[in-house]
Amino acid sequence: MTSNKTADFKSSLQFDFLDTPTNKVLGAENYGDFQKRLRESNCQRCPELLEGRTHIVVDRGNPAAQIVAIGEAPGENEDEQGKAFVGRAGQLLDKIMESVGINTNKDMLIVNVVKCRPPANRPPKPQEAVSCLPYLHWQLKKVNPKLIILLGATAAKHLVPNIKEGGMRERVGQFFDSADFPGVKFLILYHPAYLLRDPRKKVEMWEHVKLLRKWLDETKTAAIPGAACLAGRQAGE
Ligand code: SF4
Repeated sequence: MTSNKTADFKSSLQFDFLDTPTNKVLGAENYGDFQKRLRESNCQRCPELLEGRTHIVVDRGNPAAQIVAIGEAPGENEDEQGKAFVGRAGQLLDKIMESVGINTNKDMLIVNVVKCRPPANRPPKPQEAVSCLPYLHWQLKKVNPKLIILLGATAAKHLVPNIKEGGMRERVGQFFDSADFPGVKFLILYHPAYLLRDPRKKVEMWEHVKLLRKWLDETKTAAIPGAACLAGRQAGE
């Protein structure tokens, strides 16, 4: 029997056939075209996110990478610059990944569940996440990563609908599969903004990223060192 959560998830992959601006974005032929169309779309699907929005924040990093990291939503710096994870939390993420040989601009594409900054950095509302998920799913389909890193509970909740409420604590630092994304490995990590609020969690995070490094080496997934196979994968191919 199909659960309500699964039904919600599946419905999030569909979009309104009359929503022409969204259809135009989702009809992009390659990743570069998608970036341009979404940035210029003036998407209006989330009324509460429109007033304070400076930019629609599509991503940061390499769309040809084998790793996609998914956060929650753009913050103030991201909204200003139009790039994901460029504030304090993003800088911390860069340092953490660098410590295990991962360059967030070359080895990873970083995206968010919603592409517009929520007022006062509140978490996105469920309807906002559902409205924006077709864009995220388009990105994941096109990038076709080997590994999706879910940064924090919001990303985990919206990408893995069968994860239990409070399941973040049980699943953080573990690799797992999802029937909705065959062939893709998932890993939940603490959101770097959470580490800024509670630096004691950095010790645990360090153990988790060491496991990440081990997995990359074992599966020969591209990340420095050994980033050579990135060269053959170009955005839009
Ligand atoms: S969050 Fe996503 S769906 Fe909502 S207005 Fe922004 S781009 Fe559109």
